Amino acid sequence: MVTTITGARYLAEFVLPCDEDGVLIRDGAVDVDADGRIRYVGTADAAPEDASRVPHRLPGLLMPGLVNTHCHSPMTVLRGQGEGLPLLRWLAEVIWPREALMTEDDVFWGMTLASAEMLRYGVTTSCEMYFRNEALAAAVQASGARCLITPAIVQAPWPWLGSLDEQLDRVVRFGDTHHEPAGRVRVGIAAHSAYTVPEPYLRQVAEVAQDRDRLLHLHVAETEHEGAEVSARHGGASVPRVLADLGVFRARVLAAHAVWLSDADIALLAEHEVAVAHCPGSNAKLGSGVARLGDLLAAGVTVGLGTDGPASNNDLDLWEEMRLATLLARLRAHDPTAVGARRALELATRCGAAALGLPDIGVLEPGRFADMVHVDVADPAFVPVVEDADLVAHLVFAAPRTAVRDVWVAGRQVVADGVCVTVDTDEARARVQQAAVRLARGV
Ligand SMILES: [Zn+2]
Repeated sequence: MVTTITGARYLAEFVLPCDEDGVLIRDGAVDVDADGRIRYVGTADAAPEDASRVPHRLPGLLMPGLVNTHCHSPMTVLRGQGEGLPLLRWLAEVIWPREALMTEDDVFWGMTLASAEMLRYGVTTSCEMYFRNEALAAAVQASGARCLITPAIVQAPWPWLGSLDEQLDRVVRFGDTHHEPAGRVRVGIAAHSAYTVPEPYLRQVAEVAQDRDRLLHLHVAETEHEGAEVSARHGGASVPRVLADLGVFRARVLAAHAVWLSDADIALLAEHEVAVAHCPGSNAKLGSGVARLGDLLAAGVTVGLGTDGPASNNDLDLWEEMRLATLLARLRAHDPTAVGARRALELATRCGAAALGLPDIGVLEPGRFADMVHVDVADPAFVPVVEDADLVAHLVFAAPRTAVRDVWVAGRQVVADGVCVTVDTDEARARVQQAAVRLARGV
């Protein structure tokens, strides 16, 4: 039967859907409908006949867009600032004073530049925890990126932040007005962490998340001693145990970092289906530790990859996170089979989408959105390919992020031949540069 829906047909040398079977399709086709969803994925030979589809021939590999499950992307404005300071001095002397001065405009341009960077290198979705979320959402709407915004409540000394009650009110209202269930901008909710948000508010945020079926995003066990005070108040119980006892894990929870976990903590996360945003680059840069990725996966915990903010990474490169995730997991286990290349790719795509509770992205398959990346396999990093698995290993261990040539979000092309076409990157760079100099002067 010939369909009448007008759409596109992408023909590629390789299609890597990143599905559960790890299939690689040679001489593949992906049909995308006018509504931005995928209609067909398979070999070009078996594709349904449809003369109305506009064919696009891509020399290389087509795969799903990458999913960055934990970031504070507007911090492009603070990238590299205070380099080399110990964590608490870095926060107290450099980051917090500047964040206190950040305006709506700063967040807008910081997020705009971040969107341009992520899209350019194939990251089509990010999960954001930041403030001034109206500006953040406006930037994402304009850039064409996909975003799960999780506005956070946090106890911090910035006057404009308001009391925790006011913050809670604001983040709930933001979700109710900006959440688009099947749109590019979706909204969760966040409490920064158990050590920066008092328990009654952790409970309330969890109730809101449960009532509205929104993702609840928290920093959990990032550094070795951050939870000491919380644990002491609860007879030595670990932070995950305290959160479970408070009822926080009754919501759909995404735990960012999750570095310092005991066996019992990992079992607890698995039992409550808490997902983890694994941030190996940031954890290494801040000297926080190496998360127990292999053990989390063995326990059945859903894990995605995150860059964390560009002030502590210092980029938004999920290819690097894939590589670090496998390398550090193998180093930690002294075992080269600990986390495979295919698994790393899944963490950055399908599993990341699952960690965010977004079942309509992360895999190239009919019904999901056409968030896609075209990778140029003519790059020397892709030679040789003797077996199909070589291609996956090259993607994870050898490919430079510049091998990304074209990117689509919900079928709309946002990067063409290595250039982000939805953002005026020169203007964004200039605006972020100006803002950074102003904030460094303390005005
Ligand atoms: Zn973070």
